[in-house]
Amino acid sequence: MSRKFVLSGAIALAVAATPLAGAVAVAAPAPAASTAAAATVYYSTAGAPSFRAAINAGAANWNRAVSNVKLVESSSGASLRYVEGNDPRGSYAQTDGHGNGTIFIDYSQARQYDNTRITAHETGHVLGLPDHYSGPCSELMSGGGPGTSCHNANPNSQESSRVQRLWANGIRAAAGPQQRIYEQMPVG
Ligand SMILES: [Zn+2]
Repeated sequence: MSRKFVLSGAIALAVAATPLAGAVAVAAPAPAASTAAAATVYYSTAGAPSFRAAINAGAANWNRAVSNVKLVESSSGASLRYVEGNDPRGSYAQTDGHGNGTIFIDYSQARQYDNTRITAHETGHVLGLPDHYSGPCSELMSGGGPGTSCHNANPNSQESSRVQRLWANGIRAAAGPQQRIYEQMPVG
């Protein structure tokens, strides 16, 4: 009884002493972290109503994976627009890789491939990532490379780290010309 009392008294002392030491150690890094505000990319799904759920799921995957840029659906003022239709050349992202552009979702490819993987992959282009078709299914930017059985719609740690670095200073300043990146997904 008395032994237990002494022990808990020692713990109480240790807890009381901790805040002072802890405050000094934590104080330095805190201001640096709070100055980095996340950039926001507003997107519209109005032109791709069939894929709205997949688009939002893909955007949510990116929002969970990175903190320097945030994707938010908005019916007005969007810098990124998703549209749907038929194009024999397939889906594409026309973008400057800085959050601006148009993502086209091709019906034919959407019938074969996981729709959330398609939208999250195309969104990856808008966030600045290139294609890497030779990668495994665990890689989002391997696109159609791993085949139609691949349902992964999340970036891997390397991909999310790369986007974090690209957006480390908020909206990327030097926006270049827009490029159209077609998806060469093998058929069958
Ligand atoms: Zn691609």
